[in-house]
Amino acid sequence: MKPYTIPTKILYIDITKKRFWVEDKEELFRKYIGGTGVASQLLLDECPEGVDPLSPENPIILAIGPLTGVFPLASKTVAMYKSPHTGNLGESHVGGRSAISIRMAGYGAIVIKGSSDLPIYLSIHDNKVHFKDATTLWGMTSSFTAGRIIREREEGAGLRTIMRIGQAGENLVSYASVTTETYRHFGRLGLGAVFGSKMLKGISISGKSSLKIENKKDYRNLYKKIYDDAVSSPLMKKYHDLGTAGNILTLNDIDALPTKNLRENRLIGVNNISGENMATNYLGKRAACAHCPVGCIHLGTLREESEKETHFYKTTMVGYDYELIYALGSMLGINDPKKLLKLIDKVEIYGIDAMSVGVTMAWATEMYKNKKITDKETNNLKLDWGNEEVYSKMVKNIVLQKNDFYKAMAQGVIYAADKYGGKEFALAFGKNEMPGYHTGPAAYLGFLIGARHSHLDNAGYSVDQKELINNYIAPDILVDKLINEESLRQILSSLVLCFFSRGIFKPEVIIDTLKIVGIDLSLDEMMKLGRQIYIDKYKFKFREGFSFDNMHVPHRIFEIKEPTGFLTEKYIKEGLEHAKKIITTESNI
Ligand code: SF4
Repeated sequence: MKPYTIPTKILYIDITKKRFWVEDKEELFRKYIGGTGVASQLLLDECPEGVDPLSPENPIILAIGPLTGVFPLASKTVAMYKSPHTGNLGESHVGGRSAISIRMAGYGAIVIKGSSDLPIYLSIHDNKVHFKDATTLWGMTSSFTAGRIIREREEGAGLRTIMRIGQAGENLVSYASVTTETYRHFGRLGLGAVFGSKMLKGISISGKSSLKIENKKDYRNLYKKIYDDAVSSPLMKKYHDLGTAGNILTLNDIDALPTKNLRENRLIGVNNISGENMATNYLGKRAACAHCPVGCIHLGTLREESEKETHFYKTTMVGYDYELIYALGSMLGINDPKKLLKLIDKVEIYGIDAMSVGVTMAWATEMYKNKKITDKETNNLKLDWGNEEVYSKMVKNIVLQKNDFYKAMAQGVIYAADKYGGKEFALAFGKNEMPGYHTGPAAYLGFLIGARHSHLDNAGYSVDQKELINNYIAPDILVDKLINEESLRQILSSLVLCFFSRGIFKPEVIIDTLKIVGIDLSLDEMMKLGRQIYIDKYKFKFREGFSFDNMHVPHRIFEIKEPTGFLTEKYIKEGLEHAKKIITTESNI
């Protein structure tokens, strides 16, 4: 067993040549901490300018942080790559056992390049990498089955992670996801398609390294404080009891739950699919990422009677959370919990991003109802709000790309709207389909200026609900606030902490935790580093063609009242102009 404190080794894997090697990059990890900080530097170095995201040269970079395995809730792995969905910065985070497994194998990051002629999966155990034949796994309908087979073949049960793609990744759907440990995902921005383009079905990672901590007394005290905060805070209790699904009623009550492609802002019958009802009547069990005492993962039980035999039931555990309930529930007008769980299960089986597919299907429904597309395009599916059966078939048609219309849908709502029309209600920002927050200007400016165009970049939805609902904030001041929040979040992502723990890991607590693992940073240095990482991401975005001048803002968001009133184009335009000025100046563009 080999002890170490900060993971500074990078495992490089060349799938084309079936080669691997390890480099120790202590300087890089000391300067950029780990996670997003290190991964964005690796992306700038390893991803050739202008590269096709589905070409062998596009790297997959997986990185963890120095607190992984040391403190609770440092449970995530960050993936960076050029996104096939947006053609620009790709970043996605996942929990499960991914981070702890990478750390136990002895690495701070893994860089995968190249592509294989035949399907393979990677088996990484400590300092060994095996390139294994995955021909029999390729084309399997269910990503669950592929995961189960890898599980049976590989060592390290209990401590290993198994990442894998489904048919959506194999078929290069631009928003295909990667699943780890069944219920966690690199969900957004199409990492699954990058795996698919490399003929990489999955990765199993395990190891037997141990951690060495020098100052045990300070470590124990700080560990206890963080652990106690995690198990006693009311917010964490809410995440444990209801999960993020607890927000469904909150958002619905303030007219902020996007419903039926945001033609409405609340859902009739919402109580049925609320976190409260799901927890009372459908919850089968809770689960947690490795080294997390909160356990916010909620699994519902879906019990279905066999069509062939009476009194014969199939019971499936289906993970649900706020974003899934929004994208596959309210956005499609589904308010029946059983139908919702069925549709979520279908999306899981194919390995596709729930938010992107839900929003794209909602756009298609509005197109169909407006007679802008017909049965010819939908392959005779009669699209109608709330019809789970039709949407389940549609998911399959998208993944298998049954005709030109489904081929377009497989590239996302903006691509499809460019070809078929309806761009004014194609709900994507920076080409990334919208998350479930029609809360006000901060949410929308947040999606637009966030480096990933994700609600998690700067949590604008929270500013709307806590501040803008009561007080006006000028667009330039709001943008400054969002950029500052996103800069701080670069530190959380470099550690790589679960964002739910941001109330526990306040900046001064982070400084103390870093000291324990041997990294000395002042508060000022840390904040400057966060800003630098944010700007470095924008350097990549500008290099790959991003511009503030041609951002699509769907008109629909101005038509439907949000909790702070009616959003205006003028406000969004002024916010974007201010963001452009700040970010281009700091990026020296
Ligand atoms: S709070 Fe939830 S998402 Fe975060 S680490 Fe724990 S189980 Fe995973």
